[in-house]
Amino acid sequence: MNDRVAVLQTIIDDVKTHHCSLRAGCLQAVPGEGNPNSLIVFIGEGPGRVEDQEGRPFVGPAGQLLVKLLDSIGLKREDVYITNIVKCRPPGNRDPLPAEVAEHHGFLERELDLIQPKLIVLLGRHALHWFLPEIQISECHGKAKRQGQYVYFPIYHPAAALHNPNLSNTLKEDFLKIPAILKKIDELPVVDAISPPIAATKNTTQQLAIF
Ligand code: URA
Repeated sequence: MNDRVAVLQTIIDDVKTHHCSLRAGCLQAVPGEGNPNSLIVFIGEGPGRVEDQEGRPFVGPAGQLLVKLLDSIGLKREDVYITNIVKCRPPGNRDPLPAEVAEHHGFLERELDLIQPKLIVLLGRHALHWFLPEIQISECHGKAKRQGQYVYFPIYHPAAALHNPNLSNTLKEDFLKIPAILKKIDELPVVDAISPPIAATKNTTQQLAIF
């Protein structure tokens, strides 16, 4: 086992054994999974019913769409790292509360500190809101932004696209931009300054250009 795989395993173990306010209402905690050397990390909202049963992220209908989208850019799910804002399923699939997201944030921070991805793909408004709280998904989807040490790429959540053909087309188009963004990622110039995200208060406050 190399160092990164070993550290990832400790994070996975900690997720599986943690106690949080959502834990009593779900079957099991669902750690992130994938390649700890990935250039890209995908962050969703939280486990759904199938994920709660299987203990793996994005293995239900939204996950099947995510796998198809990855295939459209020549990637398999095991090439990238996939995780969620909260690791335990909120009751009845309700939105996670801010306090629940805060309880789980330490895990996400450890995952990102370990992987140091070039690109963080924010799947839907909950992931977006945690990192870039001032922006609406309808305004910023498909546009990469550098803030602090990371470049974020917000897109619609695959579950939202499953029920809405317009969102589905937009999601497919946005997804196809990922390879070009990765290629140009180090060239993003500074275009603006905004307040720091909740999750990155220790970082700088630059917001960099949009593709
Ligand atoms: N939706 C999410 O946000 N995460 C999952 O793991 C599954 C569905």
